[in-house]
Amino acid sequence: MQVNYVSPAAAAAAVRAAFSPVELLDPAAVTALQNERLARQYRYLLERSAFYRRKFAAAGLGPDAVRTLDDLAIVPFTTKAELRDSLRAAPPFGEHLAAPLAEVIQMQASSGTTGSPSYVALTQRDAVSWQEASARSLFACGIRAGDLVLHGFSMSKGFVGGLPIFQALQYMGAVDIPIGADGGIERLLAAAFDLRPSAIVGTPNFLLHLAEAAQAQLGRDVREIGVRRLVVGGEPGGGIAALRTRIEQAWGAKLCELMGGTDLGVIYWAECDAQDGMHMTAPDSIVAELIDPDTGLTRPFTDGATGELVYTAIEREASPVFRFRSGDHVLVTGTRCSCGRRQPKIRCFGRTDDMLIVRGINLFPSAVQDVIEGLRPAVSGQVRVIADFEGHSTQANLKLLVERAEHEPAGLTLGALRQEIEARIRGALAVKADVLLAPHGSIEKPGAAKVKLVLRAMPAIDGVWGGC
Ligand SMILES: [Zn+2]
Repeated sequence: MQVNYVSPAAAAAAVRAAFSPVELLDPAAVTALQNERLARQYRYLLERSAFYRRKFAAAGLGPDAVRTLDDLAIVPFTTKAELRDSLRAAPPFGEHLAAPLAEVIQMQASSGTTGSPSYVALTQRDAVSWQEASARSLFACGIRAGDLVLHGFSMSKGFVGGLPIFQALQYMGAVDIPIGADGGIERLLAAAFDLRPSAIVGTPNFLLHLAEAAQAQLGRDVREIGVRRLVVGGEPGGGIAALRTRIEQAWGAKLCELMGGTDLGVIYWAECDAQDGMHMTAPDSIVAELIDPDTGLTRPFTDGATGELVYTAIEREASPVFRFRSGDHVLVTGTRCSCGRRQPKIRCFGRTDDMLIVRGINLFPSAVQDVIEGLRPAVSGQVRVIADFEGHSTQANLKLLVERAEHEPAGLTLGALRQEIEARIRGALAVKADVLLAPHGSIEKPGAAKVKLVLRAMPAIDGVWGGC
């Protein structure tokens, strides 16, 4: 089979509303397509996956148990822990590898936020499917054939933010400037000022840092580069309104958010010009369900619904997952959109791995960041949750390290500032906070790595004000 690395559809898509007509299909047509592929995939797993054959048998599911989406609820979830065990039991790609090793042409690794990294395998067909879904997503975010795109995600370590993004850009006829966040800020900025990219992809905090570094280290304004689109993902910051505005102003460009994950693909949720949440872009290869994270019961994607995303790959050959619990907690921001796409829109507000339980209240660090961003310019916007307790649950107050502004408002005492922050946190998140104020510039900025909002111990910083 020959690989066509530039999709024939790419050039034609440039004038269409979406990269693929599938994104514009009405929900009933999507359901019909998904039913057909789901039933086929279920049979494929019974034939080809030792892992799922065992799992389905243990749940008492026969060969015809899954024919439509309505049957999914009887199938047990697949967890990250199960996949890790499967990988350990049968290296390199686990007992859930469902294609012959000879047909595997690519592999990628997850970042392994908890425990060891997870490895996934792709056949030729899987690789094209990943590129197609990612190209649709990048297109929704405003990237077009002919764009020159600065690569601000990490290029190394086998992450999907590296090579697979490069492949997706090439597939859609855009050009990736393959330096990567790990290539270093100096090199990235030099390439940006030399080559004048029309778009940049990266994590939101890193793109902000890049703009600030250009000013601080080179005395140059990144707005002179003429970037048109900022495409961000990898952490929730792009969905935080105040942070989004700051990044857009710093670059003089429009920002759109995207989301995906190693286990299912690269990118399969993406925000359109409406900037009101991310559409599912690959309903023909992935079934997304919304569940109550506590009971596991499915919920419909209705406006305002929240829940955890569960995914089933319906076209995957090499490393398919079925009812995989992603750990991504989302809010449905809309089911209709001015762009014409018919798939629901979501915002991700946190991951199960990051969730803290403070006196019985579930709390995502990104929600804390949201509140602190909203307090600028009285503070710098930088905040860290100090989770100096075992596990994820505490009966103590929420301990926060908040960085002071470079120029604090006249007449505002530190005591009053602290009270204001604590009141805002209580008002927005219903938890009592103990706030420590760190000197301006003392909280470490995120470099190539994702920003870590939660610290397990108080960092060694001089001049922190306020004690608990
Ligand atoms: Zn839209």
